[in-house]
Amino acid sequence: MRILVVDDSRVMLAMLTAILQSVGYTDVVAADSVAQAWEHLGLSEAVGAAPARPPAPVDLVLMDLIMPEMDGLVAIQRIKAEPELRDIPVIAVTARAETKDLQEAFEAGAVDYITKPLNEMELLARVRSALKLKQEMDRRKAREEELVQVTRQLEEANRLLRHLSATDSLTGLANRRDFDAALDLEWSRSRRANAWLALLMVDIDCFKRYNDAYGHQAGDECLRAVAGALAGAVRRAGDVVARYGGEEFAVVLPNTDPEGAAAIAERLRAAVELRGLPHATSTAGERVTVSIGVAVTTPGRDDTPAALLAAADQALYQAKAAGRNRVTPAALVRSLA
Ligand code: GH3
Ligand code: MG
Ligand code: MG
Repeated sequence: MRILVVDDSRVMLAMLTAILQSVGYTDVVAADSVAQAWEHLGLSEAVGAAPARPPAPVDLVLMDLIMPEMDGLVAIQRIKAEPELRDIPVIAVTARAETKDLQEAFEAGAVDYITKPLNEMELLARVRSALKLKQEMDRRKAREEELVQVTRQLEEANRLLRHLSATDSLTGLANRRDFDAALDLEWSRSRRANAWLALLMVDIDCFKRYNDAYGHQAGDECLRAVAGALAGAVRRAGDVVARYGGEEFAVVLPNTDPEGAAAIAERLRAAVELRGLPHATSTAGERVTVSIGVAVTTPGRDDTPAALLAAADQALYQAKAAGRNRVTPAALVRSLA
């Protein structure tokens, strides 16, 4: 560990260095002025200014208290004011071991003191315990940093997991599980607020024929394209477009009345048709199209999300029966009381 010795007396510096080196502290740097000490610590004159070239870190400072150019107490305060240096223990070296002097040194931030003339045993004992303290602090800091790192990695992994478990891997849309959660949440919210809640069930027309004609892989590409068209056609932040399963999609539209829901459904239908994906064997035209069932309600106490889903599904069935590539509203629409 590196020890910085600061004393305006060259004789004192030589003695301190010799004693420390004799017991194996090989990395001792001597400064005969505060300015030189600042250089070893990487301190410039202005507090907080970074040095041009960071020096090797110092683990302990022995600071003479009485020096011509700057009071040792002020120098200690200065070290303790630097966030980067604050944790370096400082031992005050003083010829005056009056209670008042020592109190001032401790107040300035010294951890310990040594009196002049030097007592070798005392010096080494205090240096040893101060270095041990520094080592423990370094270890604790490293452990804390490690913990912060691990915590950050965990949070990142959790975010990813949450995202993955809520996302459909083929289309990148919300998956069935996320959709169910969103519907439940919006259901409760709408019931409390006595607000409209709309649900759309969207199903690709003649998709079995599409697979048969173009292959399963092209079918997957088609699903992705339809998903993109649907997601791109809803505007509000609270709207959720999900892959409900297979070639079926579901859309939750909070605060959307029957007219609004029908308009959005028509926009979704048109967005898919406008993609212009060829579908030569469709009975509904020559392009990939979707049929959409629309159900809208203001959730009452005795209603359930399942009833809303069933109503949308029923409407979708009617859209298919009526020729596909169309939007059909459900019969069941509860109006605002
Ligand atoms: P309709 O117009 O009545 O909806 O006819 P349809 O052929 O779309 O409906 P049906 O339910 O008979 O068939 C749906 C087909 O969708 C069956 C299956 O081959 C296909 N399909 C479901 N999931 C996937 C998928 O993840 N990838 C691909 N490529 N095809 C899928
Ligand atoms: Mg279908
Ligand atoms: Mg289907």
